[in-house]
Amino acid sequence: RGLTMRFPVKKNMFGRVTRYARAVENVDLAIARGETLGLVGESGCGKTTLGRCIVRTHRPVGGSIFYRNDDGSAADLAALTTKQLRPYQREVRLIFQDPFSSLNPRMTLLQIVGEPLHTQGIARGSELEDRVAEMLRRVGLRPEYMRRYPHAFSGGERQRVNIARALIPQPRLVVADEPVSALDVSVRAQILNLLLELQEELDLTYLFISHDLSVVESICHRVAVMYFGSIVETAATSDLYTQPQHPYTEALLSAVPQPDPRLRGSGRIRLPDDLPDPTDPPAGCSFHTRCPYARPDTCAVGDPPGLHAAAQDHEAACHFSSQLHLTGVASGPEGL
Ligand code: SF4
Repeated sequence: RGLTMRFPVKKNMFGRVTRYARAVENVDLAIARGETLGLVGESGCGKTTLGRCIVRTHRPVGGSIFYRNDDGSAADLAALTTKQLRPYQREVRLIFQDPFSSLNPRMTLLQIVGEPLHTQGIARGSELEDRVAEMLRRVGLRPEYMRRYPHAFSGGERQRVNIARALIPQPRLVVADEPVSALDVSVRAQILNLLLELQEELDLTYLFISHDLSVVESICHRVAVMYFGSIVETAATSDLYTQPQHPYTEALLSAVPQPDPRLRGSGRIRLPDDLPDPTDPPAGCSFHTRCPYARPDTCAVGDPPGLHAAAQDHEAACHFSSQLHLTGVASGPEGL
């Protein structure tokens, strides 16, 4: 609720911060147990920072992250101290994007995958080895690989190691930050299928961060669209893809590759300019500098209403969403 993260970018001669860059701004978002929520948007829109706030590798400067415990109580992860956070670091885990840079080349798979159990005091010695062996098996790697180093493995295998490291403490919520974007196309489907199998087997909830709308459509139950640090639309995946209610979503969808060659390139909406300067956010709707439907008298002046119902179970943050009749993806991109 109201989650906000800003980074200091400029200090004065006395060391006081005089300028901040906007990264995540007043985000409200709910993730239901067992679902996969896709978080999409172009590079630099704040997706990764939001994910890092949820796993608390970043401490947000404002707002709350309510996490529902099994007994029905809720903890605000944003307000907890490092010590208080410890039990939640088992339950909320991150899968890194890059399987090449995220594994320490001087550590064996046993050390890498077993590290969360060791540092959190969950298991040691032969029990830790047994659990690493079992986890490697679950992600499709042979347990005898545990004595080897990351350089002996392909990109897809390294991402399996990454997944094993994230899942070994038996988390409930997993933030997967572009988990397949650094991989060859040929192994992406394997890793996505593995994530889906593990979700079923281990009762996991995913926040799936991606800029690839084809992948998101194929595995997410719901989607949240992020622009310039804010969530501008949320809906069930099929509703969002076929009947977008925010002009930014329409532009993103227009760039999804079309399986029908006769339709390729048709209707592509090319947005002018880049994202606004995060140290100097525009007034009014932050998308008005690029929006094809912007009305300067309204959009450049007043903040659009926050996320509000634009259709049934479908929220958007635009002054005119229900009046625009935006175009979605009619038949959807090819499945994986
Ligand atoms: Fe575009 Fe105006 Fe809607 Fe913003 S409020 S998305 S500028 S039409």
